[in-house]
Amino acid sequence: MKPWEKNVRKVVPYTPGEQPDRPNMIKLNTNENPYPPSPGVARVLKELDPDSLRRYPDPGAEVLVHALAEYLGVSKQQVFVGVGSDDVLAMSFLTFFNSEKPILFPNITYSFYDVWAGLFQIPFECPALDKEFRICTEDYFRDCGGIVIPNPNAPTGLEKSLEELEEIIRKNSEVIVIIDEAYIDFGGTSALSLLPKYENLLVVQTFSKSRSLAGMRIGYAIGNEKLIQYLNDVKYSFNSYTMSAAALAAGVEAVRDDTYFRETLQKIINTRERTKKELHRLGFSFPDSRSNFIFATHRDCPAEELYEALKQADIYVRYFRKPGIDNYLRISIGTEEQMDELIRFMEHYLGERL
Ligand SMILES: *Cc1c(COP(=O)(O)O)cnc(C)c1O
Repeated sequence: MKPWEKNVRKVVPYTPGEQPDRPNMIKLNTNENPYPPSPGVARVLKELDPDSLRRYPDPGAEVLVHALAEYLGVSKQQVFVGVGSDDVLAMSFLTFFNSEKPILFPNITYSFYDVWAGLFQIPFECPALDKEFRICTEDYFRDCGGIVIPNPNAPTGLEKSLEELEEIIRKNSEVIVIIDEAYIDFGGTSALSLLPKYENLLVVQTFSKSRSLAGMRIGYAIGNEKLIQYLNDVKYSFNSYTMSAAALAAGVEAVRDDTYFRETLQKIINTRERTKKELHRLGFSFPDSRSNFIFATHRDCPAEELYEALKQADIYVRYFRKPGIDNYLRISIGTEEQMDELIRFMEHYLGERL
């Protein structure tokens, strides 16, 4: 180790899913939306005035905050926007988790949480999911520094009922409870309706999955005005200009086109339900997903083997080499045609194998 290295902040980084770029590949490994964003997004990006790029963007991201507030029926002071929900969540960890007591999140969940906790030196503990991959409500009834729960959870896809989440929020009134709703639009029930009742609740959502804008990096948090003020104080101590002019314009347009949004969601939900039936037929089992992915295990074929075989065929799914989930594949929901091809490949592969 070089002498200067002892003063370097060392972290174990998050490992994002691969982003291969091969012709005709089927990419079902990072839960991206298979459909393009609303046509209005392409239009505003084309019409973007170069003069608006010469200047700094609005640090308050007013146009987007306004559009979201109106869409969600909250006040502008209840909306915080950032560069994807990863940015919003990281900022929230930094702002709200400043206790000596450990924060709590499930042992099998979005693998960025422990990375941020490590980076910001926040102590954490991870209550185990039960055998069916469910979050046990009672595990969160204890003295702690804060709570993060993704709903639906990733990578399991399971939704937790609003009643159970409310109990967790109510019994933890002395700390902030963050509900990460990255996948809520695919048929789940949002905790946004609980906001008027609980000032310790922060709901985080993203444009990356349901709004087909992963490449534009837009996320947001909704909470009471005080929480949002605290978030903004930290943001302005860090980087005032988080949202680019392009992201602001694209984001507003995506929110405006609700018809397109609903249509795309419905297509993905239909494809998901059909894919569940097909996977079941092929000998897979999986938690009943309410997200845009299915977390599946096969009764005979090891997940890692299937992952490699799929990859050889240019079909990318996500495989986690982690205890407890290392015999599962996380398969994002693509178009009807992509899922047909996936099923066809697996049917053939599993048939040959026996
Ligand atoms: C994808 C994802 C996010 C972050 O997505 P962004 O692209 O940064 O908005 C956050 N939480 C969960 C659980 C996710 O799956």
